[in-house]
This record gives sequence, C-alpha cells and structure tokens, in this order.
Amino acid sequence: MAKPGDRVKVVTKEGEIEGILMPNEETDSVVVKLDNGYNIGIDKKKVKKIDAVKKYSAKTEKKGKLSVNKKLPTISILHTGGTIASKVNYETGGVIAKFDPAELIGLFPELKEIANFDSRLIEQMFSEDMRFEHYKKIAGAVEKEVKKGVDGIIITHGTDTLAYSSAALAFVLERLNIPVILVGAQRSSDRGSSDAAMNLICASEFIAKTDFAGVGICMHEKPDDKNSVILPACKTRKMHTSRRDAFKAINDTPIAMINYDTRKIRFLRDYGKRSDSKLVIKEGFEDKIGLIKCHPNMFREQFDFFKGYKGLVIEGTGLGHAPVDPPQRLNINILESIKSLVKSGTIVVMTSQCLFGSTHPHVYTAAINLSKAGVVYCKDMLSETAFIKLSWLLGNYKDKEEIKRLIATDLRGEINPRIEPEQYLE
Ligand code: GLU
Repeated sequence: MAKPGDRVKVVTKEGEIEGILMPNEETDSVVVKLDNGYNIGIDKKKVKKIDAVKKYSAKTEKKGKLSVNKKLPTISILHTGGTIASKVNYETGGVIAKFDPAELIGLFPELKEIANFDSRLIEQMFSEDMRFEHYKKIAGAVEKEVKKGVDGIIITHGTDTLAYSSAALAFVLERLNIPVILVGAQRSSDRGSSDAAMNLICASEFIAKTDFAGVGICMHEKPDDKNSVILPACKTRKMHTSRRDAFKAINDTPIAMINYDTRKIRFLRDYGKRSDSKLVIKEGFEDKIGLIKCHPNMFREQFDFFKGYKGLVIEGTGLGHAPVDPPQRLNINILESIKSLVKSGTIVVMTSQCLFGSTHPHVYTAAINLSKAGVVYCKDMLSETAFIKLSWLLGNYKDKEEIKRLIATDLRGEINPRIEPEQYLE
C-alpha cells in the first residue's frame, strides 16, 4: 500500500495522475504533489487504485542546534502551509515535523547572515481551507513569541487567502510593537523561478534593519527579482493567479521596498514604529457573516438567504449599488429583503467590486435608498477586509451602534481618507 512520501500513480476514471502522495487523513481527498510543485486533491470516491511507483526513502535529517550570533536580531518563523515550504514537502513527502530552523537555514543559507531564526509549525494547510479558528491559533502563537521578546515574526502562508489572514491579524493584534510579516510564494522553493527565497530574505532584512511595527505582507514588486515590497495588511489583494508579483496594494501604496541585490530598504510612506506598547489580543470572530456579490438579474431569495446572519457584506457595483430601484418589481423586492435583514438585526455593509476608488452613499438613488434602509457604506475598504473586520467587530464588541460606527472608521489602515491618483493601476 502506498504511504505518504511515495511517488504514486493515482488511477481514476478520468485518467492517471503521478506525483508524491501527501498525508491527508482528515478529508475525503487523496492529495498528490505534482512535479510542477502544485498539490492536487482527488475525490477518494473517484480513485480506482493508487500504485506506488517509487517508495519514499527517509533521509537522515541533520538535526542539531543552530549557533546563535548575539549581534543579530531574532526572528521567529511561524509556518502555516502553502507553496512556500514545498521543497520541504518534496523531500519528506509532506511529513510535517521535519520543518525546523536548521532545515530552513539549509534551504536558504543566506538567512544566517541576517538574523537568528527559530521556527514553529502552526499548520500545514492550504490557505483556502483557513477558518477563523486558525486566525486565533496564529495570533496565540504570535503572542507567545512576543512574550519571549523576539525582534520580529515571519508567517509563511499559502497565497490564496494570505491577504484575509493579514487583515485578520492586523485587527486581532492590537498595539503590536514588533513587525509581523506574512510571506508567501507563487512558485515552490525547488523551482528555478521560485520567489520563496527572495521574499523570505527581504522580509528578514526588513525586520532586522527597520523600526517598523505592525502587520505587513512581503512579496515580489514586479515579476523580476529586483525588489520585494512590504504591503499594507488590510489593503492588499492577490490580483493574479500565478504571477510572482500577484499581490498589489489597492487604494494604497506599499509601505517599503527592499532591493534584493543591495539590500537597501526604502520606505514609501509613513508607518507605525516600534514602541513599548503592550500587545492586546482581541481574538473574537463571529461565524455568521456573509459576503454577496451584486450582479445583473438578482432575486430577493439571494438576500433572504442571510436571515439570521449577524453581518452581511454586499459587494455592490460602482459606487456601492445593489439592484433595488423601480420600475422593476423584482428590484423593489430586493430592497424589501435588505430592509428586513437590517430590521431583524443583521449589520449590512457595502463595498465595491470596482476595487479601486471609494463607495458613496449619496450620489445615485440606489445608494441613497440602501443607506436609508440602514446599509453602512465602507468607503474604500476592500470587500475581503470588510468581511474580516465585520466578523471581528461582532466578535469583540457588543453595542450594534458602535459596530456600525467602527466599520466605517479607520482602525488599522483599512480606510484611506485621501486616495492619490498614483494609487491606481500603472
Ligand atoms: N492554494 C494553496 C494556498 O493558498 C497553495 C498555493 C500557494 O501557496 O500559493 O495555500
């Protein structure tokens, strides 16, 4: 029988898939790491047989302590999964306990020159599988490291929902006084084109050499290997499925740029600095939160679905519109549905699917009617951030009026009161 780590051929009705079998007992899928570095899940019901092509042979791991250079800062790496550590997965067939600092330094020896590293395995998961409980777990691990007195933290993370996690952590980690940088990779570490090493090295340099405090994201600025950028935790979005420069600041500017060759760091705007403030963890998240995208030909049932939810983010069109205006009876029904959601206590907020620019409740009748119905406009906040923030507010605050006020108030850089012309696509 094939075991995790073996090279296998999975035979299904639709064909054969070859790769390394990954450990995955908890779900209904067989997970295989393909030669291109990506993992694929195959429904167990569809699998006819799994043939082991080559047995996994355990290499002797060089354990042993890393020497500590007292002149260098200390950085903790909290690993949550994703492509960034897939070299480790390749060699071990996904045996998670093998991810330790010595191994990491082995993969990226340059790190040793920048800082002393320690690492913790939090999860080994795809980021699309993240739930609010994982945000709490990561925040708890951050708190432990902060208490130990580390100089900064790197969170390695799958890229798909990395920007949701950065927003979640920015809200949970109140008065954070060290840098917590989320780092991902679009290509696995063992591919020539991998962005893992550069992003990790640049994040480490940024932590080691600057006085930044707060949550940020470190990814490639452009498809080339010139610079990585530190992006704002609540105003960043994955904008491309595969490019290494997939992450972009929306209605905002990257915080800093790190040149990979020279290691020079340039701040591009104001930022929060380290202080002796004491970290407060506000880790509540309300589960019953919805996110709905407006589109032509909607029906009231789509909104009625959220009855009983504590919060709903409507990703409207344009300045923040939903199809609620006459003469269409069906549209009036949608307005009725939204009104009754608000009446029953659901906090309904509005963002825009345009991504760039701000919503506005006073320009067109649709928005005027929606705001009259009690929908709160989230200014230029990203829908993903609004979703996380609304859940977080409902998880930590009791007073509904206060929550409605706070959702439209900038708490962690999620609202930009003055969007500059250059904060748009080049
Ligand atoms: N979809 C997976 C994730 O987001 C793997 C891709 C990646 O790490 O970028 O975790």
